[in-house]
Amino acid sequence: MTRCRSCEAHIIWARNQQTERLMPLDAKPVTTGTLLLDPPPRDGREPVLVTSTHPLYAARVGAGEPLYLSHFATCPNAAAHRNTDQLGLFAEKGPSGN
Ligand SMILES: [Zn+2]
Repeated sequence: MTRCRSCEAHIIWARNQQTERLMPLDAKPVTTGTLLLDPPPRDGREPVLVTSTHPLYAARVGAGEPLYLSHFATCPNAAAHRNTDQLGLFAEKGPSGN
C-alpha cells in the first residue's frame, strides 16, 4: 500500500481522465467522499477517478459504491505546501515536474 510521503497516511493513486494526472486519494472510503474509482481499487491496477460529472456517477453512488476523498483535502501537511508542487509531496511515483 502506498503512503503519503508527507503524513504517512495510506493513499491510493487514481488517474483523473480530464487532466490525465494522477491524484492521491485517502485509501479508506468515507461517507463524506465525493469520488468513485473505476475499477474499485485492487492490487496492481491503477484506478480511474469517476467524478460527479460522470454520467454514471449518480447510479453508482445509489448502488452503494464506496466514496473517496482527495488526499489534498485531508493531508494535515498539504496547506503548508499549497504554493509548491503539491504532487511532489505525496509519493515517489507522483508526477512531479513534467
Ligand atoms: Zn498526507
